[in-house]
Amino acid sequence: MQVLSTIAALRAARRGIGTLGLVPTMGFLHRGHLSLVERACAECGAAAASIFVNPAQFGPHEDLGRYPRDLPRDLRLLEQAGASLAFVPDAGEIYPPGFATRIDVGAVAEPLEGAARPGHFSGVATVVAKLLNIVQPDRAYFGQKDAQQVAVIRRMVRDLDIPVEVVVGDTVRDPDGLALSSRNTYLTPGQRARAPALHRALRSAEALFAAGERRAAVLRTAVHAALGADAELSVDYVGVSDPDTMEEIERVGSRALVSLAVRLGRTRLIDNVVLSAS
Ligand code: AMP
Repeated sequence: MQVLSTIAALRAARRGIGTLGLVPTMGFLHRGHLSLVERACAECGAAAASIFVNPAQFGPHEDLGRYPRDLPRDLRLLEQAGASLAFVPDAGEIYPPGFATRIDVGAVAEPLEGAARPGHFSGVATVVAKLLNIVQPDRAYFGQKDAQQVAVIRRMVRDLDIPVEVVVGDTVRDPDGLALSSRNTYLTPGQRARAPALHRALRSAEALFAAGERRAAVLRTAVHAALGADAELSVDYVGVSDPDTMEEIERVGSRALVSLAVRLGRTRLIDNVVLSAS
């Protein structure tokens, strides 16, 4: 595996590779990231992963400064997963002096995570557009764990005619249901023990949906009620929305995204499930 930290070196290395899948990450890798790398290798024949803690997608009071980092371990894991290229730029390489352009993806970026984290998706879209231009992969791999990010990137790729196929991998979970996240490392043992409540709450919506419930308000209330059973959990939002536009819906048709954000102490966790009538 080649490890490159400049755009010029990355471009030179990429020229020697045919079909390529890219997995953008912020590092501190876990099985969720690695499942995407392995899938990119299997489907494209070669995979690149980027590791970049993108300052542009963090708000002023968020966890940019303490975001977990372990580059030697990440590189070992990427190599084991079969990646051919690791792109590890520093912030000056991605945002040199004078950098000014931002991508605003519009309505899909506004509700839910976009409302809770102003500017977040503009930062995500901008860095993903740059990574796609730098690496020029045939396919780019993202996790369903960040469902609104997927919708934002799909919108951007369509709107800007970026020649890449967006591929979405299932959310990888611990056996107790907690979605893997680099931020899980912030949890104290007591908070970690409470965290499976997020997935349990989402499953209560799935169970209602399976039993025929189609009213979004009822599904939302059930998720709130399940989360409300634990006073240590503070709910940012519970959404029942169209998975493509992120618009809140009143009745679930063939598909809906149930998503939530919860605070456990200082740590903010997100998760979602897709309800599908098929
Ligand atoms: P991050 O490093 O958190 O920015 O995540 C990089 C990519 O990995 C994003 O496309 C995420 O959606 C994806 N990802 C993160 N956690 C998981 C997970 N538990 N399962 C599947 N994909 C994930």
